[in-house]
Amino acid sequence: MIIGCPKEIKPQEFRVGMTPNAAGEAVAHGHSVLIETMAGAGAGFEDSDYVAAGAQIVDTADEVFARAEMIVKVKEPQAGERKMLREGQLLFTYLHLAPDPEQTKDLLASGCTAIAYETVTDAQGGLPLLAPMSEVAGRLAPQVGAWTLQKANGGRGVLMGGVPGVGPAQVMVIGGGVVGTHAARIAAGMGADVTVLDRSLPRMRYLDDAFSGLFKTRYASAGNVAELAAQADMVVGAVLIPGAAAPKLISKAQLSLMKPGAALVDVAIDQGGCFETSRATTHADPIYEVDGIMHYCVANMPGAVARTSTIALGNATMPFLLALADKGWRQACEDDPHLLNGLNVHAGKLTYYAVGRALEMDV
Ligand code: NAD
Repeated sequence: MIIGCPKEIKPQEFRVGMTPNAAGEAVAHGHSVLIETMAGAGAGFEDSDYVAAGAQIVDTADEVFARAEMIVKVKEPQAGERKMLREGQLLFTYLHLAPDPEQTKDLLASGCTAIAYETVTDAQGGLPLLAPMSEVAGRLAPQVGAWTLQKANGGRGVLMGGVPGVGPAQVMVIGGGVVGTHAARIAAGMGADVTVLDRSLPRMRYLDDAFSGLFKTRYASAGNVAELAAQADMVVGAVLIPGAAAPKLISKAQLSLMKPGAALVDVAIDQGGCFETSRATTHADPIYEVDGIMHYCVANMPGAVARTSTIALGNATMPFLLALADKGWRQACEDDPHLLNGLNVHAGKLTYYAVGRALEMDV
């Protein structure tokens, strides 16, 4: 198969869909790999690293899209990229279609087959291609939240760990999955007083067993969210309903009950955000203020640590990428129901129920 990897064009996105190691493995399996020139530069990979792995460097994204049978990316295709997709072409990348009707319509119109990283599953009920980026975003959330809390950025001027004689920051993490657990661990490691809220009792039992003493857990009722929001210096939004838009858990009206200069870090912004006042921002201009509350809502947080993220994502996508290339998507999905769960669009039809429900479109 001819596998193509274009340079990411979303603002401030420095990751790349294939590492030189992934390219080398695909070549060893007998495939041809086309990499757009400088595609890996933001993650510290030179064209020469890909050439050494056996890949071919091409000058433009047009050429990658025109020649490749499978396109491997990181972020959802942007409008210009969507125009280059064609019938029968396989797209393997993050899509996040539920809050994005424009992209969905374009993918349907292209006739391509699109497998979304974020809905591929594993035998444990997890999301193996979301998990590495969730680990990164989760660990980054307290770091950017701590920066947002600094006075020069409009924050409360509160230090995460306090100092002897001064109490630590109060941090509420809503959603105790992969993002939330990693965020809570790092926030607690910085010395903050951390509470994780979730609606899954089994998940909270696990967190309590594994991290008792490091952070607390509370059930994510509306009442508990409101009570802890009023006390919080920082709130991390980390909920997920797979394939669906995030529920709104803090309303605009509730902001007036929070401490002025508190930081909301909405990691769930790529699913529409879990605070009513959230809107997606970029690394170039990451924070904004609403009613005295500072919002950090970067939709591609892992791009800030592009090298770590690219390698972590590549480790996770590699076996699926090789299966798709070796067997073709039909056979690969027939052999692996977890990969089949990634299928969101095929030949002009939506094939993922939660996306269809969110967009009120036929599946
Ligand atoms: P996950 O499935 O591991 O965890 C989600 C958790 O949310 C689960 O434990 C679930 O029980 C809980 N939950 C669901 N509804 C809830 C509610 N109403 N109240 C409280 N908890 C609730 O998912 P994850 O991998 O941790 O991802 C979390 C979010 O972060 C997703 O929206 C994901 O797309 C997003 N994400 C964003 C970035 C970014 O760069 N912004 C990067 C990675 C992941």
